[in-house]
Amino acid sequence: MQHAYDLHTHTVHSDGTTQPEDNVSLAKEIGLAGLALTDHDTVSGWTPMRAACARHGLVFIPGIELSTERDGRSVHLLGYWVDPQDAALTDECDRLRNERSRRAEDICVRLDALGVGVDVARVRAFAGGAPIGRPHIASAMIEAGHVPDIQTAFDDYLADGGPAYVPKYAVDPVRGLRLLTAAGGVAVLAHPGVSEDGGSPVTADLLDELAAAGLAGVEVDHPAHEPDVAGRWRGLAAAHDLLVTGGSDFHGERKDLRVGERTTTADTLERLQALADSRMHDTISVTPTAL
Ligand code: AMP
Ligand code: ZN
Ligand code: FE
Ligand code: FE
Repeated sequence: MQHAYDLHTHTVHSDGTTQPEDNVSLAKEIGLAGLALTDHDTVSGWTPMRAACARHGLVFIPGIELSTERDGRSVHLLGYWVDPQDAALTDECDRLRNERSRRAEDICVRLDALGVGVDVARVRAFAGGAPIGRPHIASAMIEAGHVPDIQTAFDDYLADGGPAYVPKYAVDPVRGLRLLTAAGGVAVLAHPGVSEDGGSPVTADLLDELAAAGLAGVEVDHPAHEPDVAGRWRGLAAAHDLLVTGGSDFHGERKDLRVGERTTTADTLERLQALADSRMHDTISVTPTAL
């Protein structure tokens, strides 16, 4: 695995269970050249991961995974090299985090009514200040002895449309993309072939819209993509002149995935970075075809 980069990892700064330093050590162990931190709706883990990468001689790619939604289906966007001080992006992330917090309380009310109540304070403790996601609620349910594992918590209560499910506030994918690019970043469509309710949340029309709005790439290589799904998206990416990236979506113990399980080539990383560099000097959106 020569000069491979994992462009999708999470930590305790969102709903992963590891520290940024741990992800870096794991990447180093398997010989990756670098890795990205793409926590949900926050950049709070960048500083420690940047420092750990510097210590280990790995390339650090600062990122964020923005949860957007179209027609009730979740569409995730990965943004790399965004300006962490960008006011519009940080405002939106603050709002996303606040709304997640309120929603967690609503879910807890539902769980209570279903006879499997958990203390909101325990949910917050599991999140540890990170944007609260359903996996944190699942952890509190396990601790309270209501379910044996995360999957049961989702299957019986928390999954989309489940008895305790409450939708979360989200921005439209095109607006999310514009926030990322206006903040000087490049945007990549995350795991487009899978949604939490099965099937793909990304229609052909939405892909066209995103491509026209300056999408840089598609995360074709993702552990949840079966080979046929990856193949289909590889074709769609090529047809739209979009770069093909890969990442593990590592979440520590919360998902059975390893850092480096899917990776991105050095060539693709360079192209992504060139796009980001051009955006820093020119706020007019640049599409990959202009490379
Ligand atoms: P949230 O951001 O609170 O909507 O939670 C989304 C996260 O919950 C996803 O990143 C998955 O890790 C997890 N998740 C969502 N649906 C399921 C499911 N049906 N089974 C297992 N995990 C799920
Ligand atoms: Zn996650
Ligand atoms: Fe995601
Ligand atoms: Fe992710």
